[in-house]
Amino acid sequence: MGFIQEPPRLGNQYDEDPALRALLARRLPADVRQAIKPELRELGHEVADWWPAQVAQHAVEPRHVPFDAWGNRIDTVELSDFWRRAPALAARWGLVAAGYEPRFGPHARVHQFALAYLFTASSEIYSCPLAMTDGAARCLIASGNRALVERAVPHLTSRDPATFWTSGQWMTETAGGSDVSNTGTVARPDGQGGWTLHGRKWFTSAIVSEMALTLARPEGAGAGGDALALYYVEPRGEDGRFRGLVIDRLKPKLGTRKLPTAEITLDGLPATLVGEPRHGVRQIAPMLNVTRLWNGIAAVSLLRRGYALALDYARRRRAFGRPLIEHPLHARTLATIACELEAGLELGFEVAALLGRVEHHPADRDAAALLRILTPVAKLATGRIAVAGLSEVVEAFGGAGYIEDTGIPTLLRDAQVLSIWEGTTNVLALDTLRALAQAGGPGIWRDAVERELAGLPAGMSGTRGSCATSPIARRRGSPPPARIERSSSPGLAGSR
Ligand SMILES: Cc1cc2nc3c(=O)[nH]c(=O)nc-3n(C[C@H](O)[C@H](O)[C@H](O)COP(=O)(O)OP(=O)(O)OC[C@H]3O[C@@H](n4cnc5c(N)ncnc54)[C@H](O)[C@@H]3O)c2cc1C
Repeated sequence: MGFIQEPPRLGNQYDEDPALRALLARRLPADVRQAIKPELRELGHEVADWWPAQVAQHAVEPRHVPFDAWGNRIDTVELSDFWRRAPALAARWGLVAAGYEPRFGPHARVHQFALAYLFTASSEIYSCPLAMTDGAARCLIASGNRALVERAVPHLTSRDPATFWTSGQWMTETAGGSDVSNTGTVARPDGQGGWTLHGRKWFTSAIVSEMALTLARPEGAGAGGDALALYYVEPRGEDGRFRGLVIDRLKPKLGTRKLPTAEITLDGLPATLVGEPRHGVRQIAPMLNVTRLWNGIAAVSLLRRGYALALDYARRRRAFGRPLIEHPLHARTLATIACELEAGLELGFEVAALLGRVEHHPADRDAAALLRILTPVAKLATGRIAVAGLSEVVEAFGGAGYIEDTGIPTLLRDAQVLSIWEGTTNVLALDTLRALAQAGGPGIWRDAVERELAGLPAGMSGTRGSCATSPIARRRGSPPPARIERSSSPGLAGSR
């Protein structure tokens, strides 16, 4: 008999995530919590159901078909099974819509990102187009361009699979992603009040989206970032074919391999100016703030999935005569992952809550300043937490963690992008300094941290109970529990 090991199993990802439930209990009024609980529980069940098929199909990747058999340029992209189903699922679960519906007022974003947190780890990174879709809706609303808002926002925020659209965000060119000021794409007036775009975009994820927001330089506008303008495009004509756009290739990537990320050439793509014909970088900023929040939630979602699998595996896998979970050092490793995860979760949902507050109370300037500061901080911190934590998860599976058809390596590879796109760590660190300067110094941030600490139960202002096994907590004198099950944290035990 060869080697047979029980694989890790996923239970209901809402019921088995006490950290999420505790967070929602703290952040949401009881009536909102009760109202959303059934759908979160249902989605928690669904995502666990999708996972085995996704692992089984780990090697299926999108395929670019440039020409048909008769030489016609078609540029179709063949997608995985899940990606073909994903738009309908995203619409039905309201993964974008929930953030815009008035039902829960300022709590809408916490509701939406609880759904996104459950969904992302079982989404084959379909969370990427959803992030850009949400960002595009927010950006168009902020632009005040009524015609474009009326044209696109109902699609982007639709719960109806028949009308739901996703959006791309085409910024990066060969000259730079962090520094877009050298953008070479040129916008030419088409003589009828519109524009056509000509140039090359170097990274365009989710090229299958129905629309995109993109930067281009109006012809004759001169050099530099300020001369760029923001454009709205619908890249396909009524026949479903690209117009004035060819896919040069899909990028072969370290991770996010189900996500079709294309290099494209634009040569006459019809475009509509979103605002004034300059300051496009400033105009697209609302989009980036939303996509950065999605990035943070994706980071904790992927890490949560790795942790859930590693915890379950530790109960099934035996070494030296007992389950891994009964080895104190292994339990401590898992506890450290859980601690980092909970920290990232809190940070991500703090930003989600702030976004909801600012959207419903635009006059709350302190909340707006804090949101501006914490968005890059949360994005950069959670991205790094996810990469480090998932590297630990791979190791927690021993050799099995390195083997593709366990599904574990995909988690680590997918997470690695989270500290690159939407701003690398260093670029976001500099952005945080800019945000602090705009806020007149770190006062708002310091006050927020002090408020949080003051709100903790007595005796917990130095350590959170759930992180009592973390190295930080130990340095402060809390003895680590001998076994993970004895921890005071429901988040560590993963029990109901
Ligand atoms: C899988 C994937 C999908 C993507 N999808 C999209 C997409 O859909 N749309 C899109 O527009 N882009 C997309 N991107 C591009 C991504 O946003 C950029 O790669 C990213 O912003 C970094 O830009 P860059 O590649 O030009 O790196 P660079 O800007 O060249 O950065 C290289 C290094 O220099 C550092 N650096 C740069 N400037 C500074 C500075 N001022 N101080 C200190 N360090 C600095 C960076 O931190 C980084 O470590 C995608 C990227 C990936 C990997």
